[in-house]
Amino acid sequence: MKFLFAAVPQWYPVSPYLAGGLLAGQLKAHGFSADTYDFNVEFFNDILTKDYALECLSKARSFNAADVVCEAEYSDDINEKRIKTAQLRQKIIDDYFKFDNGKCDSVIEELEYSVRVLKDKELFYDPEKLFRAKDVINSALDIASLPFAPSRIMLDNFIANGIMTYDFKDVDYQCKHDDMNMFLPYFEKKLGTLDLSSYDYIGLSITDLSQLVPGLTLARLLKKYTNAKIGIGGNYIFKVEGDMKKIPEIFSEYCDYLSIGDGETSVVELAEYISGKRDIADVHSLVYRDENGTVCTNERAPLLNLEKVAFPDFDTYDFSKYFSPETVIPVQLGKGCYWGKCSFCDFYTGQQKFDIKSVMRAVDEVEYLAKKYGAKHFTFVDEAVPPKIYNEIAKEIIKRGIEIYYYSFARLEKGFTPEVLENLYASGARFFMWGYEAESERIMKLINKGIDLSYRKKILADARDAGLWNLCTFLLCYPTETAEELQSTIDVIYDHELVNTCTPSNFALKKNAILKDNASSVGITDFAENGELHISYKYHALTQTMEEVKKKRNSFEKKYLEDTADRLWAHTFTESDFLLMYLAKYGRDYVKNYRLKYKRK
Ligand code: SF4
Repeated sequence: MKFLFAAVPQWYPVSPYLAGGLLAGQLKAHGFSADTYDFNVEFFNDILTKDYALECLSKARSFNAADVVCEAEYSDDINEKRIKTAQLRQKIIDDYFKFDNGKCDSVIEELEYSVRVLKDKELFYDPEKLFRAKDVINSALDIASLPFAPSRIMLDNFIANGIMTYDFKDVDYQCKHDDMNMFLPYFEKKLGTLDLSSYDYIGLSITDLSQLVPGLTLARLLKKYTNAKIGIGGNYIFKVEGDMKKIPEIFSEYCDYLSIGDGETSVVELAEYISGKRDIADVHSLVYRDENGTVCTNERAPLLNLEKVAFPDFDTYDFSKYFSPETVIPVQLGKGCYWGKCSFCDFYTGQQKFDIKSVMRAVDEVEYLAKKYGAKHFTFVDEAVPPKIYNEIAKEIIKRGIEIYYYSFARLEKGFTPEVLENLYASGARFFMWGYEAESERIMKLINKGIDLSYRKKILADARDAGLWNLCTFLLCYPTETAEELQSTIDVIYDHELVNTCTPSNFALKKNAILKDNASSVGITDFAENGELHISYKYHALTQTMEEVKKKRNSFEKKYLEDTADRLWAHTFTESDFLLMYLAKYGRDYVKNYRLKYKRK
């Protein structure tokens, strides 16, 4: 009885994904055998080569949209989308060669060195080399995207073809046709090099929209070409569970099981079922098709006893493959969000109600992982940890003399006093990702953030004085937000004494957000499916359209990126691990005051 947990693209390939390690550790503690494999990091290593880039350039040069014609086997709708895609691809390719002026040659020349820069301890810590290398890598990924445009792969995102919707029929077409899916030919070739015959079960985790098409593409191939049972889990699957269950092909072509919510209990029960020791109906949180073809949904797993969950096991990850010079380990101190009432939020959806490991148990885990993997850098992946508990954890880390650096999300709560922030810094915290959201009191009331707004700036100043870096997340264009209110948030973002990194996002109406049931209260007059496998709705609000929101956010971001182009990580979504490494090595003031001579793209 052997399980494999596979991570799928696209995810920033800096550190292993927690879910695989968590479930492998849990199974091993119960006497089963389990491995992990990171298809995401393999994918980036395999495509970021000179040969792959040359192959993509050659494919792009020989592309001719006129070769794509209507085929009788497809519906009119799909044929129309195929032709539109081909026309758009032709334009993107033509523009690329028109404006490239031979730059692609230097990108290809520098590519393999640039990959080395991200992985090499000396080269990485030279900001000039690092920021240039990231640009070269992203330019190489632009080349890799050309034959599949308008889809676009980046280190920090995968933008699927916008001509296709997130309705299953469109997703299904992409999963089966390599004219619209760069992952299909890649996985077909990769699977030919792997021996997966010893696995009885292969589980994939899909946690983000960027992983939906790649994850389902891989699931389908694994179901077709291996004898293993295929399971799909992850936060994203929880969010679209209802729609997925209605699609018969999900169970006939893509997987055998959907795993809903936290998997620590159900994975052990599933292993017991596959080894004949349990009935399938007794496997919690499982969705499957029975022998009559009926889709069955088992009961959700009871609350986990977090003290009894095994430590994660990252033994079968190859750390040398990650695009990072340091090993960064993800740790989850608890489950869920202890507030859980912000109107727009669906981050904690899929996790059980808030619970946190005891201080001793949490620090034991960190200490164990630090020793076992020789790691000093950690991400605490929690949505939020109450300041009082964080303080106790920090004090225990200090008491045991564990030398680590870490970061995590946090709420701007009064409990983050100067003393607590100093303890956190002394225990290795280097930055927190604070949910600032918006400056306007009115908007914050609508968001229902549940924090005392009069303390926010003081906490940021105290964090700064304790030596911490402040990364703040902002929510722009909440429905009814006025131009003045938006500007007041932008003014805070530009206060570099308090906000070192800004991570902006624009408002989206999520299917699982509290606001969905109360959308008219903020002038959302109607909303509808944005594709059955999408986690947000299309909406129309009295004060703004979705297009206007996108425009405002893009215009802010463009200007902010120009204004801060010579700063290190004044803006980031996904490079938190890099930021941690720099803060750990050089300290906050060096990172804050450094100005790049290299002109970023
Ligand atoms: S935005 Fe953060 S604090 Fe608010 S409910 Fe979501 S996870 Fe919790």
